[in-house]
Amino acid sequence: METTKREKIVKLLASTDVEREVVVKGWVRTKRSGKSVSFIALNDGSTINNIQVVIESDNFDEEMLKNITTGACVKVVGKLVQSQGAGQGVEVQATAIELYGTADAETYPLQKKGHTLEFLREIAHLRPRTNTFGAVFRVRHAMAYAIHKFFNDRGFYYWHSPIVTASDCEGAGAMFQVTTLPVGGAPLNEEGAVDYSQDFFGRPTNLTVSGQLEGELGAMALGEIYTFGPTFRAENSNTPRHLAEFWMIEPEMAFYEIADNMDLAEDMLKYLITYALENCADDLAFLEKMYDKELTSRLKGVVAGNFERLTYTEAVEILEKSGQKFEFPVGWGNDLQSEHERYLVEQHFGRPVILTDYPKEIKSFYMKLNEDGKTVRGMDVLFPKIGEIIGGSERESDLDKLLARMDEIGVPQREMQWYLDTRRFGTAPHSGFGLGFERLILFVTGMTNIRDVIPFPRTPGSANF
Ligand code: ATP
Ligand code: MN
Repeated sequence: METTKREKIVKLLASTDVEREVVVKGWVRTKRSGKSVSFIALNDGSTINNIQVVIESDNFDEEMLKNITTGACVKVVGKLVQSQGAGQGVEVQATAIELYGTADAETYPLQKKGHTLEFLREIAHLRPRTNTFGAVFRVRHAMAYAIHKFFNDRGFYYWHSPIVTASDCEGAGAMFQVTTLPVGGAPLNEEGAVDYSQDFFGRPTNLTVSGQLEGELGAMALGEIYTFGPTFRAENSNTPRHLAEFWMIEPEMAFYEIADNMDLAEDMLKYLITYALENCADDLAFLEKMYDKELTSRLKGVVAGNFERLTYTEAVEILEKSGQKFEFPVGWGNDLQSEHERYLVEQHFGRPVILTDYPKEIKSFYMKLNEDGKTVRGMDVLFPKIGEIIGGSERESDLDKLLARMDEIGVPQREMQWYLDTRRFGTAPHSGFGLGFERLILFVTGMTNIRDVIPFPRTPGSANF
């Protein structure tokens, strides 16, 4: 039986080479049984589309056929033929079937269709078997691949910043501590504080909230680098746009000023969305039909036009004059909330927006100070439905200015000498940004909750499986 190798359904469905023996393996989506013939819709995860398997009941063991129910896993050997049914491509006429695994109809959670996304989150170990999550995770894969391709084609190097970090001043949010000391009864030092000299690393450590600071070291040696890895934030933000564990892409480029940084961000987002439109058409069509009727037109819209570029100060004026009622107050010096960002993008400009030159007080210490002494060369890219998708800046490359700013905000310098050395030795203008991978996937798939675009979501109070 093992003479022919398994072929992926995505390939078979596109095949014109029929009237030959094929092997397919996959999970049963549905089975329809007639008097003498049964039809299985089989899916192997390679495509949103199922292949139809035609089974002549007389040729098979009755008991085995009965056990082929929704969710069961089978190997089918058969003949690939042009399908009789209208609008169908090919189907497989089964000559041999091996039932790898049954799925008891009484207990299999996906026996019926039409579960809510909330319910499926409770069974995250099974939800990749649904059409929706198959589509989302294939798109997620395609975007990861396209990110590497985008940067590789431009001569960027993939740089691995650490997951466990000794620096606790990345400034991007609350951190998860990493320790091997016992939670209760940690050893104490003479001052009565936890004695970290006895900890695994001999000092306190955390999970990284951003690979940027270490990324800068790479850029100031290799020229153009990017990171692409998990980041962790222990903030208690229970929103549809925040995860406690999420993936970030952080390019960092020597010799880029803020305008170059904006160009790169815009080019990258357009490249990725174009890639999805060209390579994930079936999955996007499914997601559009099921969840978001405007999906492809929104994606095409972003690719077609230029992003609107303006300063934070100009944006605040627009918001103040808008006559809109916002939940959070608008005013120069306040951080923009997602409702403000979305107003600018969706109502006012009708296209993605890049805001620059934020008040220094609401941005991190490493952003380059403008001549006005009040604003910094930060940039946020704002997207429809999402709000902030990218945050970045030109970095402060002047040692004295950087030290002054760190003093001002109280960032301890003793722990940061490794970072300051980039300014001490061979400093240069440089820039970078962080793209939240799941925010990108939200945008590309049209899903609305970030928990639904990562296989195993971690959020406050929830780390199942
Ligand atoms: P926000 O204001 O939306 O909380 P932020 O300004 O704290 O984001 P940055 O530190 O600028 O985020 O991180 C860079 C990018 O990482 C953001 O633009 C966003 O796309 C993504 N990001 C940040 N926090 C999260 C999170 N908790 N979950 C998922 N993605 C995130
Ligand atoms: Mn940000």
